[in-house]
Amino acid sequence: MSDCIFCKIIKGELPAAKVYEDEHVLAFLDISQVTKGHTLVIPKVHTENVFTLTPDMASRLFSVVPTIANALNKAFSPAGLNLLNNNGEAAGQTVFHYHLHLIPRYGKGDGFG
Ligand code: 5GP
Ligand code: ZN
Repeated sequence: MSDCIFCKIIKGELPAAKVYEDEHVLAFLDISQVTKGHTLVIPKVHTENVFTLTPDMASRLFSVVPTIANALNKAFSPAGLNLLNNNGEAAGQTVFHYHLHLIPRYGKGDGFG
C-alpha cells in the first residue's frame, strides 16, 4: 500500500533499525520504544491486522519470533519479554499494517505496564 509507513520501511523509502529480515518477514526497532529494544515484527506483504492475516503469513511470521526474541535477549539482556498485538482502532491499533510488538522487560519501573 503506497501510503503505509511500514510498506515504506519494507521498500527502503523510510529508515528503520532492522533487527531481523528474511524473504517474508521484517523486524525493526519501534521509533518510540516503550522499553529498550522494543521491536515490531511485520509481514512483508501488506495486510491490515489479524483479521486479514492469512494462516500462511501468520505461520511464517511466528516461526521466526523465537529467533528474534533470542536476538533481543542477547543484545539487551532483559529479564522477560511481552508479545503484544493491537487489532483495530478500538484495541489501540494506530498503524494498519499487521505488526507484533516484542517488548523486552527489565522488572518493576521499566516504563511499561
Ligand atoms: P500500534 O499502536 O498500531 O499497535 O503500534 C504502532 C507502533 O508503530 C507504535 O509503537 C509506534 O511507535 C510505531 N511507529 C509508528 N511509526 C513508526 C515509524 O515510522 N517507524 C518505526 N520504527 N516505528 C513506528
Ligand atoms: Zn503496509
